[in-house]
Amino acid sequence: MTVVKADAYGHGLRQIAALLMQAGTDIFGVANLNEARDIRAVGRGWPIVMLGACLPDEVERAVKDNVMPTLSTVDEARRFSRTAKKLKRTVNAHVKIDTGMGRLGVAPEHAAELLDAIARLPNLNAVGLYSHFASAESDAAFSRRQRSQFNKLVKQLTASGHTFTHVHMNNSAGLLHEPDSIYNLARPGLLVYGVLPHGRRRVTAAMKRNLRPALAWSCRVSLVKNIAKDTPLSYGRSFIAPRRMRVATLTAGYGDGFMCSAAGNAKVLVGGKLCPVLGRVTMDQMLVDVSKIKSAKPGDEAVLIGRQGKQEITAHQLADWTGTLPLEVLTAIAYRVPRVYRGGQAA
Ligand SMILES: *Cc1c(COP(=O)(O)O)cnc(C)c1O
Repeated sequence: MTVVKADAYGHGLRQIAALLMQAGTDIFGVANLNEARDIRAVGRGWPIVMLGACLPDEVERAVKDNVMPTLSTVDEARRFSRTAKKLKRTVNAHVKIDTGMGRLGVAPEHAAELLDAIARLPNLNAVGLYSHFASAESDAAFSRRQRSQFNKLVKQLTASGHTFTHVHMNNSAGLLHEPDSIYNLARPGLLVYGVLPHGRRRVTAAMKRNLRPALAWSCRVSLVKNIAKDTPLSYGRSFIAPRRMRVATLTAGYGDGFMCSAAGNAKVLVGGKLCPVLGRVTMDQMLVDVSKIKSAKPGDEAVLIGRQGKQEITAHQLADWTGTLPLEVLTAIAYRVPRVYRGGQAA
């Protein structure tokens, strides 16, 4: 199952969905029904699992759109059964077990009850059983506990006659760190986009070497000027030049998703060199120190994530500078930033 929620982690859902259909992904994982519709607009017929909970007033639409829901309660199951019956459809659902994430899912001790109830309800099948790691990237002991709890439950349920087409638990971090499992489906998001999960557990050098981020993000230099010592820069005069400097204005700001918390910490690449962000990031523009790049001129590329010459800024690095996670950095890239696709055949 390829997880494409949040506009395919900021990469552009429709284009990524098209590419994944060509690549032959088996199932799509989405957070909500709007994302499911976007996938349907690209290609019909692909199985889609909604990983978020379906609100009572969304059930009819989920059934009509043939989206497989995640079920945590008998109430949800009843709503789907009733609606499916009314619409003369059959709903294939994935039942979620809460083994320690505390978000969605039924407690393991009530799982059999829920599955027995589903088995008695018309027009509803539990085709999938899954759980979710809370910290597979950081905490080996807790992840093993989650995994063994889920494995034990799968065995019990199977022994009492329940069968599932798909049993799944591994997100990207689970795939990297908890791979010896009985599951027949994985749910990677981050790894598909070439980004490692952010955590304490070590990843093999081979994995680090072979994984390449799919996304690069750049803007342009719009103006370059030399400023005198003590010149104030940006809103709130948030930077005062400590010496004569060469400063470039860039065509991106927080309105494009470049975090405000970058001020004073982050760098961007201009002319193949790391240039510090100066003063507050504004909505549409920001200022960077290009004192070391004599050739900097309007029109030059400024890389926010990606490679330029020998240097690279990763989503992890930008997340460190701005005090957040790589996932937030990627999903924050705003809609107004044009996505350009290279080397793929997808639309
Ligand atoms: C987001 C999500 C995933 C994918 O997680 P990654 O860490 O990006 O691999 C898998 N399963 C569920 C339930 C999710 O919400």
